[in-house]
Amino acid sequence: KKRNGHEPEFIQAVQEVAETVIPYIAENEIYKGKNILTRMVEPERLISFRVAWVDDEGVIHVNRGYRVQMNSAIGPYKGGLRFHPSVNASILKFLAFEQVFKNSLTTLPMGGGKGGSDFDPKGKSDDEVMRFCHAFMTELCRHIGPNTDVPAGDIGVGAREIGFLFGMYKKIRNEFTGVLTGKGLSWGGSRIRPEATGYGTVYFAESMLNTKNESFEGKTVVISGSGNVAQYAAEKVLQLGGKVVTLSDSAGYIYDPEGIDVEKLDYVMDLKNNKRGRISEYVEKYSGAQYHKGKTPWNVKCDIALPCATQNELTKHDAEALLKNGCICVVEGANMPCNADAVHKFHEAKILFAPGKASNAGGVATSGLEMSQNSLRISWTREEVDERLRDIMKEIHDSCIKYGKEDDGYCNYVKGANIAGFVKVADAMLAQGVI
Ligand code: NDP
Repeated sequence: KKRNGHEPEFIQAVQEVAETVIPYIAENEIYKGKNILTRMVEPERLISFRVAWVDDEGVIHVNRGYRVQMNSAIGPYKGGLRFHPSVNASILKFLAFEQVFKNSLTTLPMGGGKGGSDFDPKGKSDDEVMRFCHAFMTELCRHIGPNTDVPAGDIGVGAREIGFLFGMYKKIRNEFTGVLTGKGLSWGGSRIRPEATGYGTVYFAESMLNTKNESFEGKTVVISGSGNVAQYAAEKVLQLGGKVVTLSDSAGYIYDPEGIDVEKLDYVMDLKNNKRGRISEYVEKYSGAQYHKGKTPWNVKCDIALPCATQNELTKHDAEALLKNGCICVVEGANMPCNADAVHKFHEAKILFAPGKASNAGGVATSGLEMSQNSLRISWTREEVDERLRDIMKEIHDSCIKYGKEDDGYCNYVKGANIAGFVKVADAMLAQGVI
């Protein structure tokens, strides 16, 4: 805290891990006295750099770029790039720290990292986004590589941005390698990568529901966000027989009591991905739906809630509202969307709750599969990748149960994910000595 006290999100993420991992260290002789957690909270490297670029009017802008290389004990740094005005060192360190545990849980050999910029892609032309991405990569390219650090997308960084970033990396380094994941299918991307985080979140939720002899069939589901994760979480919920009634963005949420079916979801995907519109436009098209400006969807009655937008979007009051309305399962699609008080409420009520580092790991797992396909110079079918994704989510679920089951039979998935993620990284760090 003395060293990072000015970084609230980072402190929050570390605190949550420390609460479950410190008691585990105390019970296990091999980790005692090695200061493992103290070493894990210090990034191996934090790079910050100037990104200067020119807008369509010829005006020069300056943004700050970052890459946090958190931990490489079990593989090259791996984690997304976020472009959003809120980006700062605290948010990226929290995300990088979470990523170390998440990547460890996937069973694939990937270390943890995260990066991005306070650049806001909203309202920018394609040319401006391209110039920004190119400028960003002119510096980032010297710090990354297929065996060093492999970035991917995150908030504000989708297929378009990955394309521009990859183009500049290839030009400067004169090599065609799997240095980024989330690439287009024709130039090294993996099938199912766009769907993977949302699908994986729902696969994970399905495994949790199965432990209670429940499923998505006939359940009402509230989803926040309307970006990559939210869209594909909604798609998979529909495929499994659930009814999705909300989506949102940073300006408000829409509630469609009749359910957002496949056709309506197609409209949302086109609106958000191609037209880059706002979710409020949904009610202009579908008059049975309501738009709630400036609000989050947690007061809507549901059986299952999937927060898929951003960190700390679900507070203690929201948790109370969900519980009052009979919600039985909350699964994080986003990173740390539920704040600590909300998580505490879910645990107190002993409902099913999964932290993002376990439930949204399907995205990075499929990125890991993209890296493997790039190294092998082959491309797996949709069915092959989806099957691997399902298996990985099942394994992560089982690891959480292994380390998270409490005496009364309740599974604390936070504890399970933290300890399972920690063990693999800690063992590698011990084997590699004090470095
Ligand atoms: P997108 O940029 O595609 O979508 C983000 C969505 O969240 C948008 O609807 C956006 O609304 C909303 N949002 C962003 N910031 C805020 C805010 N401050 N308050 C309310 N809503 C907000 O990002 P992704 O879907 O890729 O990412 C969503 C979450 O999932 C993030 O936490 C990310 O870290 C996490 N994640 C993503 C993975 C991936 O593979 N993409 C992998 C693992 C985790 P608006 O358009 O108004 O900004």
